[in-house]
Formats: sequence, C-alpha cells, structure tokens
Amino acid sequence: MIVPFFGELFLYPIPLELSHNYCSNKCAYCFANLNNPNRKAESGKVANQLKKFNQKDDLTSLLLQNGAAICISNKTDPFAVSNYRFAIPEIRTMIELGIPIAYHTRGGKPFDQFYKETDIPKSLFYISICQTDEEIRKRVEPGATSIARRWEMAQFLIRDGHQVVIGLNPYVHEWNKAETFIQNVIQAGVKNVIIQPIHLNSEQIRNMSAAEMEAMGTTVLENAKKRESPYYYGVQALVDRLLSLGINAYDTQHFNSSNIMEAWHTGLQGKTFKTIYDFYHWCLKHKKDNDPVYFEEFYEFMKPSFLDEEKPYTLYQYITSLDRRYRKTQQSGMSIKHKMTFRELCLNIWNDNEGAKNISRSEKFAMVGELENKVLSLEADENENLIYAFSNKGFDFRLVNPKNVNYD
Ligand code: SF4
Repeated sequence: MIVPFFGELFLYPIPLELSHNYCSNKCAYCFANLNNPNRKAESGKVANQLKKFNQKDDLTSLLLQNGAAICISNKTDPFAVSNYRFAIPEIRTMIELGIPIAYHTRGGKPFDQFYKETDIPKSLFYISICQTDEEIRKRVEPGATSIARRWEMAQFLIRDGHQVVIGLNPYVHEWNKAETFIQNVIQAGVKNVIIQPIHLNSEQIRNMSAAEMEAMGTTVLENAKKRESPYYYGVQALVDRLLSLGINAYDTQHFNSSNIMEAWHTGLQGKTFKTIYDFYHWCLKHKKDNDPVYFEEFYEFMKPSFLDEEKPYTLYQYITSLDRRYRKTQQSGMSIKHKMTFRELCLNIWNDNEGAKNISRSEKFAMVGELENKVLSLEADENENLIYAFSNKGFDFRLVNPKNVNYD
C-alpha cells in the first residue's frame, strides 16, 4: 500500500512511501527483513489507490492529489528479484500519472532493463553502497548487485540529469576503506553522500540466521548494539573529509553547512516536505548564534508543502508512530486528537519538548529556560509556544539560560 511516511516527518523529505515483499537482496543487517520477514506486496490495493485517489479523501489520496512524491522504498528494493515484477508496473503507472518518485535501490538487471525501456522523468536515486571490498559485499549482501555496478549506475544516472545520493548506510569501519570510497565518489561525479553508523537492537540480531550472523562477524554485531558505537567517530571523520572536497555529506546526528536535502527538493521538483535540517539551513541564513527561534518562523517555513491550512486531517500517526507515550496513554497521561490541522500538528511537536521530533534534539537548538530545585520553567512567546535558541556552534545542553539569548 502507498502510505504517508509517518515516522519520517521533518526528518526525511518524502511525504509517501510504498514497499513490497521481503527483499531478496538479503542484506544481513536489513532492519526491514529482520523486523518483518513476512511482508507482502499488495499489488491489487496499490492499483486501486492509483486508480481512485482523485475521488477519495483519506490522507494518502489527498497527498497524491497534491502531487506529493513517493519513496520506493524504505523497506524493500523495488528492483530486487523478489519485487521487480510488482514494482515496475506500478512505477510505470505512477510515471504516467506524473507522481514524482524517489528510488531507493541497489540496481541490478531488472533495473537496467527498466531504465533502458522507460522514459523516466528527472528523479532522485538513493543508492546504498556500504562496502569497498567485493568479497565482503558478497558475504553481507549476497543477493545484491556488485559494488562496481552500483558506482557505474551512479555515474550514468548523474550523466542523465538525475539527482543521486549515495547512502553509506550502514557504515561499518571494517567494511570500508575511506580512500577507496572517496575515490569512487569523485570518479562517479557524486555530489551527495549520507553516512550512518550501523545500529541493530538485540531482537534484530536474534532474528538473524546463523549464516547472517557469521557474515556479520562477532565484533560488528557487538558494536552494532552499542549506543555510541566505535563507528560513530569514523562517520564524522569521513563526513569531514567529504565536506572538505566540496561534497554534500550528512550524518543525521550532526548538522553542517551543506544541505543534502536540496537533492530531494530539486530532484522531485519541490513535491517534498521540508525537514528540520532545511529549517536549520534557514536559521543559518537568518539568525545569529544565540538568537531566539519562534514557532511562527518554523511554521511559515514548513507550511508551503502541507495540505489546506484550514482543514483538519487524520494526522495523529505522525506522532504516535514514533512516540510510545501517545500510545500508552494510561501510563503517560498523554493524548492526541486523531484529526487536526497541519498547524496543530506542528504546534504539538514544537511544544512537546520530550517528543522524538522536537527541534532541541539537534545540538544546534536548545530550549530556553531554567531548572531550579528540579523544576523546569521554559520561556514561551505571547501565544504560549516555547521559544528555542539557535547556535551554529551547537549547545552543550538542551537547555540554555534566558540571559544567554539575544532577545533585543
Ligand atoms: S536492499 Fe535494502 S531492503 Fe533489500 S535487503 Fe538490503 S537493506 Fe534490506
């Protein structure tokens, strides 16, 4: 089914997502295969959605009517052997309907064939390349395309005018020679790279087969469970190297002066949602260190990509999908309306300082207030919306004293 990309609001710029079957690329670390090995493509339902979305008023249909882009896919590779028979006809229909698509793929023969036979509008391609050694790749991604073929693919897509983002995701030091990776980036003409350290929880590791565990190796599995894994520092060093070479590089923990989100906004002709990373870039242009940041500034920046400002929609899952407090309402005392306007949704996220999407989760923003005798008092504007402070140097803590904020 095509569904709103609930968990990624403000984090990833694509409003909708579509996934298919268990992915036969069989990456040993694949969170989607490990979490839900029985997932199935729902071709009939997708065909129905694409046929009737203009007559319907559920959130997915309204976003489609608004021209929103679809991510194919966050949980499967549409061109993997297990998926291309379902995915390609759907993609062709979407192209005919003018729906912008962000392709997440490792390529392969079905992709090559599709690319040859289809007139693809300018799009965004996210290509994961997580190793520099083909022997390691064969071990941990046994069903996927070779590394060399993926770099070739990046090169010809860029040549043909598409936006390409390379996902070194997950990053594992033992799988990567930084110099080889950088050389490949330069040779392919890649301008955008996202790097994320590997992270797996104990349950995901328990769900691995013996062969997958062996492919990953004990050291990598042990490190993957740690909150601050040793890979974390390797990621930062590589991001810094790439930035020094003029490449847009990004890891979600650390914001920097290159805005990789532009690849999505440009590649999908603006049929995207703005992210907190985009808002950080707005602040870089319009704020000085320690300036206050107000809700109305945030909302004005975010709202152009939303639906009708005045109307309520079923938006609660943008919050409940990530935040257990709103699902365990008896224990937490938290609740959320099912229907609300996008402004109300933004207000909820802005004013919930403990929320997973709160802006002060980034080190570049802090709540303004004081903690005295274990009582937290936060500064708010005349409409009782929280005030945050911005600093490109970053804050050591999520709370900054009002005396240190430039209110003049
Ligand atoms: S290609 Fe993506 S979806 Fe497929 S197995 Fe690998 S990580 Fe999972």
